[in-house]
Amino acid sequence: MRKPLIAANWKMHKIISEIEDYIRKFISLVDKNFDREIVLCVPFTGLYIAGKLLFGSNIKLGAQNMYIEEKGAYTGEISPVMLKDVGCNYVILGHSERRKYFNETDEFVNKKVLTAIKFGLIPIVCIGETLQEREQNKTFEVLERQVRGSLANLNTLDAEKIVIAYEPVWAIGTGKNATPQQAQEAQQFIRQKYAELYGSIVAEKVRILYGGSITPENFKGIMSQKDVDGGLVGGASLDPESFYKIVMFDK
Ligand code: PEP
Repeated sequence: MRKPLIAANWKMHKIISEIEDYIRKFISLVDKNFDREIVLCVPFTGLYIAGKLLFGSNIKLGAQNMYIEEKGAYTGEISPVMLKDVGCNYVILGHSERRKYFNETDEFVNKKVLTAIKFGLIPIVCIGETLQEREQNKTFEVLERQVRGSLANLNTLDAEKIVIAYEPVWAIGTGKNATPQQAQEAQQFIRQKYAELYGSIVAEKVRILYGGSITPENFKGIMSQKDVDGGLVGGASLDPESFYKIVMFDK
């Protein structure tokens, strides 16, 4: 049984005062004994205060990126040790915005994945096709390349602990979500490819999230699919009540 995981990706939004207000409100909404995992992926400048506010709650903290080294002369970068130090459990890696604007390749994302694991962070690894790739019927080819490239060289134990996020690029921030059937088709394929790498027992355990224009209205349908184990939520996670409704999709 895979425990649902719903993660908020705030991207480059929210200053400290907004983060404080959000987290106080959100904690007051969320039930203590919860049967699902919730993660807030906060911008770097807010991680410390978010970690303090979330301490003792059942809501986990995540970052949105990370560098591949523990420390050193890498001006402007953030290391896995720094993320652990402020209380992060998770880190989003290979988001399509990082691939697009910062030229991150599967090979580089894979280095980050291995580094995150080495330092005790659980990576949420994003993959997904662009609109052009979908229209050219290249979705499966792209997903296979990303799975084999970004998720290579894991040991079996780590391979079942990481989280994969299927985020079709054409659905991110566009208001055009994938249909439940499109999400299922892609995520079933991702699981199959993962099984080819790490075996079917591992592939049955790994959680695969859907991401792309999730709303409180559409999430229940998406979650009804067999291979959808949760969501990575951008825009609709910026408001605590809207994100709470998404977290409570089946209640
Ligand atoms: C995302 O950034 O990971 C995302 C899915 O964004 P949105 O929900 O706004 O489409």
